[in-house]
Amino acid sequence: MTNTHPESQGASRGVVILGATGSIGVSTLDVLARHATRFHVAALTANRQVELIFEQCRRFRPRLAAMHDAAAAEQLAKRLRAAGLSIEVVAGAEGLDAAATLAGADTVVTAIVGAAGLLPTLAAVRAGKRVLLANKEPLVIGGRLLLEAARAHGAQLLPIDSEHNAIFQCLPNGFNAGTAPPGVRRLLLTCSGGPFRTLPAERLSQVTPEEACAHPNWVMGRKISVDSATLMNKGLELIEACLLFGMSPQQVDVVIHPQSVVHSMVEYSDGSVLAQLSHPDMRIPIAHALAWPERIDSGARSVDLFEMARLDFCAPDRQRFPCLGFAYEAAATGGTAPAILNAANEVAVDAFLDRRIAFTDIAHVIAGVLGQVTPGSDQTLAQILGDDARARYAAGELIERRAPRRQQGTV
Ligand code: NDP
Repeated sequence: MTNTHPESQGASRGVVILGATGSIGVSTLDVLARHATRFHVAALTANRQVELIFEQCRRFRPRLAAMHDAAAAEQLAKRLRAAGLSIEVVAGAEGLDAAATLAGADTVVTAIVGAAGLLPTLAAVRAGKRVLLANKEPLVIGGRLLLEAARAHGAQLLPIDSEHNAIFQCLPNGFNAGTAPPGVRRLLLTCSGGPFRTLPAERLSQVTPEEACAHPNWVMGRKISVDSATLMNKGLELIEACLLFGMSPQQVDVVIHPQSVVHSMVEYSDGSVLAQLSHPDMRIPIAHALAWPERIDSGARSVDLFEMARLDFCAPDRQRFPCLGFAYEAAATGGTAPAILNAANEVAVDAFLDRRIAFTDIAHVIAGVLGQVTPGSDQTLAQILGDDARARYAAGELIERRAPRRQQGTV
């Protein structure tokens, strides 16, 4: 991609990437670089990775760059000035907000990890943008809020998460986020099973963060990799699917499919099942959502049916992976239950990645928090943020109690 400054692009579409330095952010830039006349990069955001966002700014020349971390924003501004690049740098929550609502950009890709993406996603929706959702946690915790805001402000929500994008591709025309599509009986969410799919239950407490992050089919950020290993990722996706496609949890089944070629399926009332197949490469759903309703090259290679030879499907083991069951319960309870589940999971995954608790403690901590924090029945922003904070506090306390036992080797 050469000159990408908005003023020089005529009718090209301005794209903001929230979380540009992560796995999804980098894949999005890869797709955009292939279509320099169709899109230009309007704004990029990150938390603290100065070097990478600096390189991205140098290459894609956005109008605005936002860093959540104020010190990182200062460093970035200095680096850009020294390189002679006049790109405005903003910081903090207001900075992310400014990027999410940037005038002249019509598309916002949400690729921040975790609940931290809720406020900028909401800001983009309230600004009436076309919002391409990779960051699933905001939908999980504030889905109803986002859907109502989208209706009120004329924003369009399109899924990038590979399973939801696959479902979107298998639906009849006229997708409207939050509304049940006509004639659909059931959604089948496929799941690779993660790196511990066949590991005996007694070995799970010993696995390391490195082993948990070594996903067999996808290269992703650390948090989602651990979520894939516990199957919480599929649990969050189940909640996301109920919201996006107007389904009840009973209408969404999880299917283990180790090859990650079928990315999800839609069953219609006549018994027909439509599936979307592709090489596991996030550039495919990203390109699909960016260009929808048209199709563009994503850079991904073709599916080779002869090379893959077989596709396997089986039921998930809910005993070894209890997080999936927690998510079904939270989806059925509704209100702030998914926010409590998500907050407990974020804190527990962080503690596991920091080696403060064992892999199997993630589920114990979540179960403890779900037992302690009573969910509210509404989904106002204040209630979501309040219950999110209560759940994080409860999870922190439970981890404090478990961590010393782990140091003594008894967890
Ligand atoms: P990464 O961890 O790779 O990247 C996260 C991005 O968010 C980085 O740009 C990071 O900045 C930024 N960030 C982190 N914390 C904050 C914060 N507090 N405020 C502002 N920005 C922040 O994540 P992934 O790309 O793997 O995932 C992003 C989202 O997409 C997640 O919700 C995930 O579930 C979802 N998703 C990811 C898929 C994948 O293949 N990776 C597939 C489907 C969905 P910095 O680099 O400076 O830390």
